[in-house]
Amino acid sequence: MSKMLQSMCRQFADEELAPNAGSWDKEHKLPVEVIKKMGEMGLMGVSQPTEFGGSGMDTMSYAISLEEISRGCASCGVVMSANNSLYCDPIKMFGTAEQKEKWLTDFASGNKLGCFALSEPGNGSDAGAASTVAVADGDHFVLNGTKNWITNGPTADAAIVFATSDKSAKHKGISAFLVEKGTPGFTTGKPEDKLGIRASGTCSLIFEDCRIPRSHLLGDLGMGFKIAMMTLDGGRIGIASQGVGIAQASLDAAVRYSETRTAFGSPISKLQAIQFKIADMAMKIESARLLTWRAAQMKDDKENFIKAAAMAKLAASEAATFCSHQAIQVLGGYAGYVTDYPVERHYRDARITEIYEGTSEIQRLVIAGQVYKDYA
Ligand SMILES: Cc1cc2nc3c(=O)[nH]c(=O)nc-3n(C[C@H](O)[C@H](O)[C@H](O)COP(=O)(O)OP(=O)(O)OC[C@H]3O[C@@H](n4cnc5c(N)ncnc54)[C@H](O)[C@@H]3O)c2cc1C
Repeated sequence: MSKMLQSMCRQFADEELAPNAGSWDKEHKLPVEVIKKMGEMGLMGVSQPTEFGGSGMDTMSYAISLEEISRGCASCGVVMSANNSLYCDPIKMFGTAEQKEKWLTDFASGNKLGCFALSEPGNGSDAGAASTVAVADGDHFVLNGTKNWITNGPTADAAIVFATSDKSAKHKGISAFLVEKGTPGFTTGKPEDKLGIRASGTCSLIFEDCRIPRSHLLGDLGMGFKIAMMTLDGGRIGIASQGVGIAQASLDAAVRYSETRTAFGSPISKLQAIQFKIADMAMKIESARLLTWRAAQMKDDKENFIKAAAMAKLAASEAATFCSHQAIQVLGGYAGYVTDYPVERHYRDARITEIYEGTSEIQRLVIAGQVYKDYA
C-alpha cells in the first residue's frame, strides 16, 4: 500500500510539482488547482477516517507521501502538512461525531482547507502565554485577539483557534475553538513576504468581538493547550517528512549536476571533495528518514512517540539545511547561486523547518525532558 502511494506521489511530484515549483515560488502563488488535485488523490486527509472524507491510511503512509510531495514542492508540502496534521488530526482526536461531520469531512477530502492558529505576535515558543481571549456569553463565546504566522491562513475555510477563557489558570485556561471563514469579526491580515515556502500562504488572523456558538468548542473548556501540544507532537512527523523531502531534492540535484559539469578535464563527480559531500548528504538523509519512519510507526502502534517525533523533526530539519547548503556548493556559482536552478529555493525552503512547529531549541528541550523521564 505504502509503496504504491509512494510511487504515485513520486510521479506526481516529478511531473506536476518540480517543474513548476520555481515559478510558483517566484510569483508567491499558491497552486490552488494542484492542491485540489492533491485532495482528489487522497492526500489532504491521508490518515483521516474514510467515513469523514479521509483516505483511512496510517501515519507511515502520511510520512511517505508528504516526503515525496515536499521533494517536488516544499510549499505544497506545508499546505498538505498543515491541513492533515494541524487541522484534521485534532478534530479526529477530540471532535464529537457532529463536529467531525461538519468540520472534518470536507477538509479531509480536500474540498476545503483548514488551518491551526496557536502562535501570536507576542508568543511563539511560549504558546501557553496566549493573549487572545474567549469570553463566555450565554450560548456563545466572544473572541478577541490576533494570531500570527498562520499557514493556509489566507485561503483557509476554517481555523482551529486557541484562546484563553481563564487567564488566571495560565495554560490550563486555554481552549480550542472551531471558527469558520466569514464569521463576523474574523478577518485576515496581509500575506507575509517570506524567505522560503513562498508559494504557501501565511498571514495573521484577527478576531474583533467575534461571536461563535458554544458548540464550536473543540474538546472540553481548558483543554486547548493539551490539544495543541498533542497536535504538534504528530505535526512534527509531518515537518520531518517535509525536511527529508527537501534534503532529498537537494541530493538529487547535486548528484545529477556533478555528473555533467566538468572541471579540469573530468566530471566534478570524480573529485573526492564532491564525493564526500554526496556521502554526507546521503547519510544524513537516510538517518533522518529512518527516525521519521520510526516516529510514524510508533504513532501507528500507539506507543509514546513524543521523543521520536522531536528527534525526527530536529534531525530532518538539520539534514534539509545541511543538504541544501551543500547542494549549492556542488552546483557552484553557475548553477547553485542563481534562481534558474532549484537548489537556492531548497536552501530557502529548508530554513523554516528549523523554526515552525517548535524551533530546534524547543525540540532539544522536548527530547531532554523525555530522556530524563526515561531515567526516572
Ligand atoms: C512560515 C511560518 C509558518 C508558520 N505557521 C504557523 C501555523 O500554521 N500556526 C501557528 O500557530 N504558528 C505558525 N508559525 C509560528 C511558529 O510556530 C513560530 O514562529 C515558532 O514557534 C517560534 O516562535 P517565535 O517565532 O515567536 O520565536 P520565539 O519563541 O520568540 O523564539 C525566538 C528564539 O528564542 C528561542 N527560544 C524561545 N524559548 C526558548 C526556550 N525556552 N529555550 C531555548 N530557546 C528558546 C527560540 O528557539 C528562537 O531561537 C509559523 C511561522 C512561520 C515563520
